[in-house]
Amino acid sequence: MIPFGYTRPADEAGALHAGSTSGVAFIAGGTGMVDLMRLGVETPATLVDLNALPWTKVEKMADGGLSVGALVKNSDLAWHPEVRARYPVLAEALLAGASPQLRNMATVGGNLLQRTRCAYFRDIGVSACNKRTPGSGCAALDGGFVRMHAVLGGSSHCIALHPSDMCVALVALDAVVHVRGPRGERSVPISEFHVVPGAHPEVESVLARGELVTAITVPPTPFAARSAYVKVRDRASYAFALASAAVAFHLDDGVVRDVRVALGGVATKPWRSQEAEQSLRGQPPTRAVFERAAAAALKDARPRPGNEFKVPLAQRVLVRALERAGGIA
Ligand SMILES: Cc1cc2nc3c(=O)[nH]c(=O)nc-3n(C[C@H](O)[C@H](O)[C@H](O)COP(=O)(O)OP(=O)(O)OC[C@H]3O[C@@H](n4cnc5c(N)ncnc54)[C@H](O)[C@@H]3O)c2cc1C
Ligand code: SF4
Repeated sequence: MIPFGYTRPADEAGALHAGSTSGVAFIAGGTGMVDLMRLGVETPATLVDLNALPWTKVEKMADGGLSVGALVKNSDLAWHPEVRARYPVLAEALLAGASPQLRNMATVGGNLLQRTRCAYFRDIGVSACNKRTPGSGCAALDGGFVRMHAVLGGSSHCIALHPSDMCVALVALDAVVHVRGPRGERSVPISEFHVVPGAHPEVESVLARGELVTAITVPPTPFAARSAYVKVRDRASYAFALASAAVAFHLDDGVVRDVRVALGGVATKPWRSQEAEQSLRGQPPTRAVFERAAAAALKDARPRPGNEFKVPLAQRVLVRALERAGGIA
């Protein structure tokens, strides 16, 4: 490992000050960052440890929504009574991610900002990777092994998957990411927080250098109580998604009045499907309606030789999630 400096600011002002210097990187649970430093993918001059900051609470807000500090551990959020009762899709997504040990370390902010698991991205010195070294090429697109790669949101520069489970649920819940930086505070809807690669795969979110995620808020969507997360992976546990779906339903009088649909394991960012939502609204919750919605969700998929299976798999996963959330499976 390359030598690096380390600082643990005691408060927010200190963290923002430390983060404004070039060559620094923030660290929270460390479950992603330390791995990437060991591999030489991340080479910060100084690590700014956020763990002395007070962003560790899950609180009910005046409007009935939830505010979740950026340093709340994934396991604490998954088992929080408000989350389990009112946002089951979030609890299920968190518990479907990683292993219990990792979830006990991983934080909300870190999960939001975790890097892709593209094997070429992590293969420093051997594989070309536009995300790691802009302009160097893409080993995955140049005939690589793309079984885990994205079929939605890719570009001719990068087709790396966004690996988070939690973010897929947060997209279905219309969560908002709260950010603080040298220029003050701002709030970003989660569906706009991550960006597709386009010509700049190295840019993964709208977070500017030195900005910190302080919290996320989840609105008090009443129908989120009728929600589900379904994930298919290579092993029963401890594996990233091949395809996943987060859905929340408002059924009234035998008809879908409102619905949220998000997909994981198939796209370069946590993927909201307005197409699926549109095709479901006003329809009865039947298998045929769900299958039409799943086809709409994947209609723009661009698989490559080796990951074509993801299209029908994601469709089936979405149908299954809709059936579960709709109480008909
Ligand atoms: C073996 C293994 C299996 C895994 N399986 C899954 C899985 O199935 N599903 C899944 O979703 N995830 C999985 N993960 C990923 C894991 O969830 C992430 O590593 C974890 O969520 C990152 O959180 P952290 O707090 O450890 O982040 P860190 O490693 O500390 O940081 C990650 C990134 O976030 C940045 N960061 C952290 N906090 C902030 C903040 N508040 N503001 C600004 N930047 C910040 C850091 O600078 C860094 O770039 C797996 C990881 C491993 C190692
Ligand atoms: S898919 Fe993206 S992350 Fe993977 S090698 Fe290509 S540019 Fe790098």
